[in-house]
Amino acid sequence: MNWENVSVILTTILYMVSAVLFIRGIKLLGKADTARKGNLMSSVGMLIAVVTVLLEKKVTDTLFNEPLKNAYLWALAAVVLGGIIGAVWSKKVEMTGMPQLVALFNGFGGLSSLLVALTQYLTDGEINVFSSIALGLTIAIGAIAFTGSVVAWGKLSGKMFKKNVNIPGKNFINAVLALAGLVGVGIYALSIAGLFDANVGMIGVIIVTAAFLILGFTMVIAIGGGDMPVIISLLNAFSGLAAAFAGLAISNSVLVVSGCLVGTSGLILTLIMCKAMNRTLGSLLFSSGTAAKKKGAAGEQKEPRSMSVEDAYLVLEAASSVVFIPGYGMAVAQAQHAVKELCDKLEANGAEVSFAIHPVAGRMPGHMNVLLAEANVPYEQLKTADEMNPQMPNTDVAIVIGANDVVNPSAINDETSPLYGMPIINALEARTVFVLKRGKGAGFSGVENPLFTNDNTVMIYGDAKQTVSALVSEFDEK
Ligand code: NDP
Repeated sequence: MNWENVSVILTTILYMVSAVLFIRGIKLLGKADTARKGNLMSSVGMLIAVVTVLLEKKVTDTLFNEPLKNAYLWALAAVVLGGIIGAVWSKKVEMTGMPQLVALFNGFGGLSSLLVALTQYLTDGEINVFSSIALGLTIAIGAIAFTGSVVAWGKLSGKMFKKNVNIPGKNFINAVLALAGLVGVGIYALSIAGLFDANVGMIGVIIVTAAFLILGFTMVIAIGGGDMPVIISLLNAFSGLAAAFAGLAISNSVLVVSGCLVGTSGLILTLIMCKAMNRTLGSLLFSSGTAAKKKGAAGEQKEPRSMSVEDAYLVLEAASSVVFIPGYGMAVAQAQHAVKELCDKLEANGAEVSFAIHPVAGRMPGHMNVLLAEANVPYEQLKTADEMNPQMPNTDVAIVIGANDVVNPSAINDETSPLYGMPIINALEARTVFVLKRGKGAGFSGVENPLFTNDNTVMIYGDAKQTVSALVSEFDEK
């Protein structure tokens, strides 16, 4: 048996092993107590896949080539450069900056599939029609994932495109771009089939690249008003699909498997998010976009009431049922450990304590669950909106910690609100509502929150961690 056959058998087996590790890993990621193991298993799968690529014949053939044509040197340069940038970046990023970093990683995933496809187009002279279609679709989906994710990164980080821009005729423009891009794929495939010459094929590739790069931008820039979670999941699915098509185009089985896993899990998450926000994907992508309501609209502005920590303690000390409703502000303040301490004090004082977790609270799916698990809040104490809302009228105190959009009653009673239709945690139905935030600022959607001026709501202004720690101290002192 020659090395070529050994290499094919060996790489096929190793790719299968890594595909099995990915599938098993993603299954284990589904439960909090097995998630670490799942993460490790998937990482080992990825390591095996990377090493296997280096054992492929077309790579080993370049071992003794001059530096510029040596695949090992290019791979080494990429690993060193990417590794250094990744390590520095992940050390520097704040926990609250993770969502925008993940959005950017989605974009880089799309961009790398796009680059793989373009490289294949430029270097492989023996592409067949099937591969050319896969290649065209890789370019299309990779491009949309890239620019869409850059816009999502800008919105999440607040650095760019913060306001949802209503592009007149958006649906028409998007339809024309999508159609033009698909025509570009067709032109390229037909040139491979021999109907057009290579120069026309090149024009097809340029059209699909440009059209879908612009489409990613126009599609995501109009989305805002708290609907970003769905679009981020969708972009994640796109980056997976782009990788799967890239795998088909370059005949790499492990890329097809891993791309399909990311693509399908992203699509499932998109559907879960749509359901959680009572939206349809179509309404998000094709609606004209609702501008956030402006501050200071006509009519008298009621001022929120506020309370000191000392007075709030007296209310909590007498409470027999308390519900914590955490949001993005808890993550910013890193208040989860203090919250757990307050939870313990309240329970020791005889109160029944639960946590109402909204599916889009924070800035990424499961954001609150991760933070509270880190503070050792038992999983059974974390309840969904559906579980908690019927209990709200019987709750003595609802403590809203840095949450805003997810408790905004406009979502249920103001048809003009961009949040309208999104299920919320019905904090306002509790007997008393404490809202812990630094000031009167709006939430991610930019929408005013009438909960704050409700008769049974009192604001406790300040950083959430400091306020909660001060409440804990009150319990300690009394
Ligand atoms: P919001 O972003 O609506 O509100 C957070 C609030 O926290 C702000 O009003 C802010 O008020 C307050 N805050 C900030 N820092 C602190 C601090 N240090 N201490 C106390 N309070 C603080 O958060 P929600 O969790 O209610 O809603 C999440 C929003 O993000 C939704 O609109 C959702 O659609 C969107 N989103 C969610 C994603 C997901 O996957 N979960 C992804 C992308 C977007 P102030 O400045 O006055 O302190």
